[in-house]
Amino acid sequence: MRRSRAFIPTSKEAPSDASLASHIFLARAGFISQSAAGLYNYMPLAKRVIKKIETIVNEEMSKVGAQEVELSFVTPAELWKKSGRIEKFGKELLRFKDRKDNMFVLGPTHEEMMVELIKNRVTSYKNLPLNLYQIKTKFRDEARPRFGLMRGREFIMKDGYSFHASTEDLDREFEEMEAAYKRILTRLGLDYRVVEADSGAIGGSGSKELMVIADSGEDTIAICSKCEYGANVEAAISGERKEVPEAPEAEFNKFSTPDVKSIEELAAFFKIDAYYTVKCVAKKLVYENESEIVLFFLRGCDNLQEVKAVNAAGALEIQDASEEELKALGLVPGFIGPLDQDKAKHVIDTSLKNAKNMVCGANELDYHYVGADLSVISDVAYFADISEVNAGDSCPKCDGELSFTKGIEVGHIFKLGTTYSEALKAEYLDENGKAQPFIMGTYGMGISRLVASVIEQHHDENGCIWTKETAPYMVNIMVSNIKDEAQMAAGEKLYKELQEKNVEVMLDDRKERFGFKMKDAELIGFPYTVIIGKELVNGNVQVYERFTTEKTAVNADEILSYVMDII
Ligand code: ATP
Ligand code: MG
Repeated sequence: MRRSRAFIPTSKEAPSDASLASHIFLARAGFISQSAAGLYNYMPLAKRVIKKIETIVNEEMSKVGAQEVELSFVTPAELWKKSGRIEKFGKELLRFKDRKDNMFVLGPTHEEMMVELIKNRVTSYKNLPLNLYQIKTKFRDEARPRFGLMRGREFIMKDGYSFHASTEDLDREFEEMEAAYKRILTRLGLDYRVVEADSGAIGGSGSKELMVIADSGEDTIAICSKCEYGANVEAAISGERKEVPEAPEAEFNKFSTPDVKSIEELAAFFKIDAYYTVKCVAKKLVYENESEIVLFFLRGCDNLQEVKAVNAAGALEIQDASEEELKALGLVPGFIGPLDQDKAKHVIDTSLKNAKNMVCGANELDYHYVGADLSVISDVAYFADISEVNAGDSCPKCDGELSFTKGIEVGHIFKLGTTYSEALKAEYLDENGKAQPFIMGTYGMGISRLVASVIEQHHDENGCIWTKETAPYMVNIMVSNIKDEAQMAAGEKLYKELQEKNVEVMLDDRKERFGFKMKDAELIGFPYTVIIGKELVNGNVQVYERFTTEKTAVNADEILSYVMDII
């Protein structure tokens, strides 16, 4: 491509709402332009990068026998009613009616459609397993679209779905897909980690996320210092505590604790470790048609993990509860405890099961219990893992330690089971001729989010640094002074030669200053720029490597073979 003819509107100005490097540089370097909140136009450079990612995905999918299809973007709302997700998806689902008053939604994901596609077409266990995928625009009316391509409302996703006759076969496929996803990210040149993920309200028996490691990531992941264990903090668990603080021995008793409300105050008052105190976090849980106050009890040293809390309560959303709302139920904020708790629904963290020597609220103003033994409620109370792991906790898989890092969720693979096939009555006949619902897996990957992720991991203060597998053009030939006939001729010659060798090459033949063109090349992030300038009279050109920002002088006669070698 000749730069003089290319549509690459670079700019010095970043979008006013851009805070992430990928958002700033993809906009400034003329890859994307925003049309409305969370909606982006892809310009030629972005299209090229997207195609490269798609090609890699297609190659890796075909290696594992997954087949590409394309389902309609506009999907009948009827299917979403049948699966029950029309309510669950809430406002993220964009609904509308056609001229005949039929209700439709813009597909945010395609489980329903894919099940519908194979239903009555795949009818026997003999046709299983089957793995179908597409790469397609999705629409989710995100509450807070932000960070450019990272969280759009319209975005491109690779979504795949597999169908099986046994859970063992689903397990096998899941492992194969995990391996394929890892190969894709490795080929893209990304530093990533596969982590255990929250399976959410949909249930299912296992899910993993593929996280690109980046400080700007929206997800917090806990990783082990020694082994492969990694988990989204929403799902992370810790191993046995290595050192348990010394227990405060006391007879069970009600103790006057005037105005001692917080865990810090309580631990200081009794001169005990917060480990032996019971913390109450009161929240308002929102369900489909109602909401209620739920109390979450944890050890004083732990914090509530809200996603775990939502799952434990089977709710859709979690909100803060006000003091007034608690008092209205007869609760005494600051002194709420788990013993004889009959005022509100409550969940107790598993680490408190059978806990002894505890100090907890006595459900009475200015009183706490000391020496409380929670085994008295172990049969009646509802226990669940609702606490967040802490940095320094022991790993659940080995004797290593957990620490936190930030990640960008670029992929999510999920053992779905029969949730959708049962809801949509999609069945096959097993070996005995008996109808069975398909056992399903689902595998998502954010293609447009990957474009942004590459730049989050590969940029500097001057712009994008594309990896070889993702670069829109591998080589940029920059003719320093286009009025210099020798320079221009050398540039044209190399341009032609590289094209003949199928190298993706740009010829910067614009009548602009050297400095301006160089800045532009850095902003766009071509892996290599061949500078044809003044040194040509001495038989030399320069090769600028974007990744190292180093310039190397190369004999003009050998430039073709030099370039072919490095790329
Ligand atoms: P998130 O927690 O980031 O909202 P999600 O759990 O809703 O993601 P999935 O439903 O698992 O995402 O979708 C599969 C993949 O699609 C994600 O792993 C992510 O890479 C991508 N994706 C999801 N939402 C968006 C979005 N709003 N913009 C860009 N990519 C997205
Ligand atoms: Mg989401």
